[in-house]
Amino acid sequence: MRWYERKAPFRHGGRPPQRQVSATEAGIERIAELGLDCMEVQFVRGVKMNERVAREVGEVAKKSGVRLTAHAPYFINLNAHEKEKVVASQQRLIHTAHIASLLGAEAIVFHPAFYLNDSPPAVYARVKEMLEETVGPLMAEGNRVLLRPETTGKGSQFGTLEEVLNLSAEIDGVAPCLDFAHLHARRGGGNSYKEFMAILNQMAERLGRQALDGMHIHLSGIHYGRKGEINHLNLKESDFRYVELLRALKELEVKGLIICESPDREGDALLLQETYNSL
Ligand SMILES: [Zn+2]
Repeated sequence: MRWYERKAPFRHGGRPPQRQVSATEAGIERIAELGLDCMEVQFVRGVKMNERVAREVGEVAKKSGVRLTAHAPYFINLNAHEKEKVVASQQRLIHTAHIASLLGAEAIVFHPAFYLNDSPPAVYARVKEMLEETVGPLMAEGNRVLLRPETTGKGSQFGTLEEVLNLSAEIDGVAPCLDFAHLHARRGGGNSYKEFMAILNQMAERLGRQALDGMHIHLSGIHYGRKGEINHLNLKESDFRYVELLRALKELEVKGLIICESPDREGDALLLQETYNSL
């Protein structure tokens, strides 16, 4: 349900002509119309929304009963070797969280870093330190938006399940985003009821039951190779066993948001909702 860049047709006649409906607002209204419940606002190519628009969009979301999260820009690498690139990455996170809080969004999702041939433990230590430095000022200004590092789909990207869970356990204000398609692409496995249960139980063991009560999930089909993710696919065109995942989520009474990232976001989001309700 990623709508931000989508040029939705504006069929909303009742608005004052001087105020143009943004694509984000149109997306939110469409989500509500479809009977879906949440949306991730896409800032993946940069946060181009200003404070005034963010407040207006937040109002629309509130009125429509659509819960929001945001996806931070892709240009983030907390393990960059140049100090200024790390600082720019931290500022992008802080700025995204600032706009997200005006949107009334609950969390921002981000891809924390690339390994750049450094050893994973060294990268972990660095990402953790840089992320702590990022969360500090946000907490100080009372920003309550959670920072959610995502499980990433490629071997070159920091973001294994363990790394994401450890950051979440060790830093206040940080919680995981589990992208199950990425976990599958990265590991090859991670595509059966048994493995989904194991992943969820591992998360509950590391972070406590409350982690299952406030989950953030990304879901789609996925095309992958030896190095992991290649591109996202629609669920039915992929090998992803989404019914088994939904069964595991239901079995463990998991609560939270599922963001569909298939090329056909609308169709697959509805498919997931319908399948989940029929279990
Ligand atoms: Zn992502």
